[in-house]
Amino acid sequence: MDTNRLIADRSNAIDASGIRKIFALAADLRDPINLSIGQPDFEVPPAIRDAARDAIDSNQNGYSPSQGAPALLERTIEHLRWDLGWDAAPAGRTSGGDDARIFVSSGTSGALTLAFLALLNPGDECVIPDPYFVSYPHLATLAGARAVCCDTYPDFRMTAERVEPLLNERTRFVLLNSPGNPSGVVTDSEACDELRELCRSRGVLLISDEIYDEFTFAEALSEPAIGDPASMRCPSPARRPGAHGDTLVIRGFGKTYGVTGWRLGYAAGPAPVVEAMAKLQQYTFVCAPTPLQAGVLAAFDTDMRETVARYRLRRDMVIDGLAGVADVTTPGGAFYAFVPVPERTTGTRVVERLIEREVLTIPGAAFSLRDTHLRISYAAPEDKVRRGVEVLRDVLVSS
Ligand code: PMP
Repeated sequence: MDTNRLIADRSNAIDASGIRKIFALAADLRDPINLSIGQPDFEVPPAIRDAARDAIDSNQNGYSPSQGAPALLERTIEHLRWDLGWDAAPAGRTSGGDDARIFVSSGTSGALTLAFLALLNPGDECVIPDPYFVSYPHLATLAGARAVCCDTYPDFRMTAERVEPLLNERTRFVLLNSPGNPSGVVTDSEACDELRELCRSRGVLLISDEIYDEFTFAEALSEPAIGDPASMRCPSPARRPGAHGDTLVIRGFGKTYGVTGWRLGYAAGPAPVVEAMAKLQQYTFVCAPTPLQAGVLAAFDTDMRETVARYRLRRDMVIDGLAGVADVTTPGGAFYAFVPVPERTTGTRVVERLIEREVLTIPGAAFSLRDTHLRISYAAPEDKVRRGVEVLRDVLVSS
């Protein structure tokens, strides 16, 4: 039987991730310097592992409520009150009035998928940054809609000025990602304010993908938590009075605590939007993994500042190591740097030359309409970062 002909258009419309192609090319290398993968390399904090193990051992292995385990919801709501000044209630709660709603998702990807499906009709548009996290354009395609790219080169700031010309009557939301993948760039407070104001004035939802919020370096922590002026945080358009009525925040636990395989995140925002997403969750993901929800409950009491500071040193190794050969926009968070290649070549060609020297990176074309950059992940041991940057320097000079 020709099962190829059974595949739906929406699946055929999506090309395999450029990242997976690199993994396939590199599969034969024995001990590559792998700077391609967005996977933290530190050990998961013991308290988080212990809590997950305890949950499994005490038989918390069945479904949780679709919107999330009550204890995790309660702790996340408390965190949002402290951080953003939001009053939030679990999705499905009818007594929450105008409060924000929240639910626990199967990873940040789970929340993003449900947001695109809940908000986009066929023919609709959303505005995403270019460069973008690889899933964004494809999620729009899955919904039968179109992602319109906001060109943020060369500084990777998604400003209101750059977004405004892209809005029209078909636009349903604007998606901001700060700190950003693949650039690591943090959007400053002023740009957050202007973008939110633009979206509000045009009746368009602002979605803020804040998966790397806890992975923000000291100099980019420029807004105090609402509940504690001494705790500096990554700027967020959601940390404003009334933002819960017009901004959807999506966050994750995987990157921050090294548990990307646990598939846990959350979405919080306007009640109608979050309720629509939570309804779709019931018939798709059903619920996030129950014992692992108990595990990440311990995350809120886990201080990751030392780890983040170590990643900042690695960021400096990359920036300093490429000084004079590539003008890299300094990342304020996450663990990526987006490196421009000389105009005479392309990101893809440089990535191929790096593979010949057993260094793995990702061509910018996997994240962008352009092929002018490559992405390094410095979530790798220091000696590998140092050697990889040396090889990259050499290849850039001779490309
Ligand atoms: N958003 C961004 C910006 C990301 O970089 C990633 C993961 N690389 C995700 C979302 C998805 O994360 P998760 O593993 O939590 O689904």
